Amino acid sequence: MHVTAIIAAAGHGARFGSARPKQLETLKGRPILQRAVEAFLASPVVTDVVVALPPSLREQPPAYLRHPRVRLVAGGASRRASVAAAFALARETASLVVVHDAARPLVSQQLIAQTIDAARLHGAAIAALPVHDTVKRGGADGLVSATVPRDGLFLAQTPQAFQVEVLSLAMVVVGEGEATDEAMLVEQAGRPVRLVEGDPRNLKITTAEDLRMAESFLSTGAGVRVGQGYDLHRLVADRPLVLAGLTIPSEKGLMGHSDADAVCHAVTDALLGATGLGDIGRHFPDTDPAWKDADSMALLARVVGLVTSAGFAVGNVDVTVIAERPKLAPHADAMRVNLARVLGVDVARVSIKGKTNERVDAVGAGEAIAVHAVALVHG
Ligand code: MG
Repeated sequence: MHVTAIIAAAGHGARFGSARPKQLETLKGRPILQRAVEAFLASPVVTDVVVALPPSLREQPPAYLRHPRVRLVAGGASRRASVAAAFALARETASLVVVHDAARPLVSQQLIAQTIDAARLHGAAIAALPVHDTVKRGGADGLVSATVPRDGLFLAQTPQAFQVEVLSLAMVVVGEGEATDEAMLVEQAGRPVRLVEGDPRNLKITTAEDLRMAESFLSTGAGVRVGQGYDLHRLVADRPLVLAGLTIPSEKGLMGHSDADAVCHAVTDALLGATGLGDIGRHFPDTDPAWKDADSMALLARVVGLVTSAGFAVGNVDVTVIAERPKLAPHADAMRVNLARVLGVDVARVSIKGKTNERVDAVGAGEAIAVHAVALVHG
């Protein structure tokens, strides 16, 4: 099933009281928008992402939005219009779309998956929180005019997920109504919308106070962690040598199920190790044809998204590549730039060192390349 995530990021966030759009504010060193997009890129049930941006930002998008699985559209005057523009693009390929506000950067992988699952079964689904507080209606005079029974009341969040034909039909039937979100369009079209229990951490960052609260959520118990990764692949004829996403001139290349990028694999395992999220084989099993000839840099990007969703940022990465030949020193800087881009860190935080094995054992005989990596992440 082709699932496209639509990230609504075209608003200007006037309530935030800042000159730049609030989705570009940073939360623990990463822009809110980047966190939201990466949460969906990291989801194993999401195929690709369409981001609706303010037209000015669409013209000059930030580097983290230049991703092979991300497409950008210029948003409209309202949130509805922006989502409609993104949906027009998404519906060309998707069978299900999941709409999410860029201002909710702490959405969990579980909530994304549950909402998509519910929409697959019921046509449409939204994340929503039951109301626990007593709800009052206030009048213009500053006095309580009524107490609203809270039974059955929910606060709508995003993600909101829809089968493409359900949302298409609702857009046609309802037209330019007063709906404030896409679920309301579907309701007005008379179709069921399934409630999925939302997450209090999935808060919408509207004010500077919300941003502080989100920071405190991310701080809880995260701390500093370190992880180690190791990989080895055989060198064989008639394969390209790909390390850190760079194709390096060589008589031989690394053999493997994917592109056999051992640097990427070692760094991926180091990050997964640091965050306690398992290992590369668990996330991308080599028995799954989906990962055959996979671009390891794209898999690493997914893992960076998982690390971010778990509340961590990458601190630095240090890599040692053991190869008898070719000489890697001339390529180290290009490899660092590639890794830094996918890790979302400054190149100064990425180190790549080349070693030989002094002709000792199989690596020294040029039969294989081995890579060690250490990664530090922090909350
Ligand atoms: Mg490997």
